[in-house]
Amino acid sequence: MNELLIQLVTLQAIDLEIDQIDNAIKSEQSGLDERMSALAKREALINELKEKIASQQKESRTLEAEMADKMDHVRERQSKMMQVQTGREQTALLKEIEDAKKSAKENEEKILVIIESVEKLTAQMEEEKNLLKGEKQLITEETDKVRANIEAINKSKKKKDAKRSEQAGLIKKSLLRKYDTLRQHRNGLAVINVVDGVCQGCFMAVPPQRFNMLLKGEDIFACPTCQRLNYYVPPVLEENLEEK
Ligand SMILES: [Zn+2]
Repeated sequence: MNELLIQLVTLQAIDLEIDQIDNAIKSEQSGLDERMSALAKREALINELKEKIASQQKESRTLEAEMADKMDHVRERQSKMMQVQTGREQTALLKEIEDAKKSAKENEEKILVIIESVEKLTAQMEEEKNLLKGEKQLITEETDKVRANIEAINKSKKKKDAKRSEQAGLIKKSLLRKYDTLRQHRNGLAVINVVDGVCQGCFMAVPPQRFNMLLKGEDIFACPTCQRLNYYVPPVLEENLEEK
């Protein structure tokens, strides 16, 4: 194989290991992020419940004040009864008193419904608060663990980074730039082997003439379809293994 290609293939092997390390860090972090967002959701739910309870309590207070007014009215009308002379006036007053009592009763029923609802919401809120407390504690422990994991992963990454710089130093700058750009745009694979005349990066056939030149290993060729740099490794090793 072309010497430059061997260096690129070696570099790519290191880069793929570094990619794996970066992915491991990302997945550690994203697990924690998910927990954090679940926590934020529960906090939002608790606030929502708190607001609902406050607004229902406010409504209940309004209804209570109204009810008190209605009962005052009832008492005032009842005392007026003493002074009333005619039967017609009496009937009118009695009706007014009955209506006010009925209306006050309606308020009372509404208040009872609200009290029941507030009790339920409060119980739900308490439960959510307990869950939140547990989750917060868990997340604190989890954060420490994730931080330690990431630190350990980063340590191993440093070694790989050093190895990477060393290997990259062996490669001509212009070729290295090309390699880096290809890796960015081609899913991390800039150099790829050709098997049976097919590029293993895009699975398209490499033109036969070019494949023949690739076999000689004198020049570097880019796949005409995906532009990755192609190399060829004869499948000797596999056959040998099968024979054994
Ligand atoms: Zn290709």
